[in-house]
Amino acid sequence: MLSFGIDIGGTMIKTAIVNEKGELDRKKLYPTGKGLEEQLLEIIDLELYENRVEAIGIGTAGRVNPRTGSVSLATDNLADWTGVRIKEIIEEKTGITTSVINDANAAAFGEWFVNHRNAESLAMLTVGTGLGGGVVIDGLPLLGKRGEAAEFGHQILYPGGRKCNCGKNGCAEQYVSMRLIHRLVAEVTGYEIERTELIKQFLGGDPIVHKAVQRVAKDLAVLIDSVFLNFDPDIVVVGGGISELGDSFLDLLREEISHYERASLYTGYNVVLSGSGNDSGIVGAAIYAMNRVLKDYPTW
Ligand SMILES: [Zn+2]
Repeated sequence: MLSFGIDIGGTMIKTAIVNEKGELDRKKLYPTGKGLEEQLLEIIDLELYENRVEAIGIGTAGRVNPRTGSVSLATDNLADWTGVRIKEIIEEKTGITTSVINDANAAAFGEWFVNHRNAESLAMLTVGTGLGGGVVIDGLPLLGKRGEAAEFGHQILYPGGRKCNCGKNGCAEQYVSMRLIHRLVAEVTGYEIERTELIKQFLGGDPIVHKAVQRVAKDLAVLIDSVFLNFDPDIVVVGGGISELGDSFLDLLREEISHYERASLYTGYNVVLSGSGNDSGIVGAAIYAMNRVLKDYPTW
């Protein structure tokens, strides 16, 4: 069985045909356009013309009502996306069973499916431009009643702190993101550097970049401690752009986590970096949709 996986982010839309093993074929990348609904239908049209798929799985930024497959709340990154009934629109047009979930929930599920299927539970923090989260328990993504489960990025880390684009102050996303690492470096050097350059400088031991990464790792460690105490998962996966900083970043993060783990039963070794990189969102969305066709999932 083949499923069409779509991962919708603020800047890029990633798609691929995914088989039952979670293997990807025909990977494609599109810049996210202004008329997102139309663009999505065009992409699906093209892929369905060329491939036989029996499920369509979408992971999108924003809060998604998992029962109706409509976007209940999207930030300014995806203009006019709030209120769009994606599932209904696509199923009407294609006749193919479609599932829509939040992109970070999809990434966590994809990560579990590909790399940690022996784990009973897994939590994932996706640290990219922003901060997303997802939890998988007994082989199912935890989506919540309103699609707000595991929204770690908008949990308050510093009450009264920096303004967030969600309207609150002090959200974790304002302290744990690649965007912040870039900004902290630019504040010292006076100029912005590219992602690849930042990674190179970090691996080369540049003290300014190291300090910026450490600042973010400190706050990420606080969040990870709270994730362990909330869900007590087998494993916490850190994904997104920050995972490209590799093992020396993981060592740094585990060092920060060591301040908290002493008071608990988990250890920093229960924290790992994503094994699927940027593909986990596509895989998770596609496999979730496939499972809804094949398995005895909740009927909503
Ligand atoms: Zn927020």
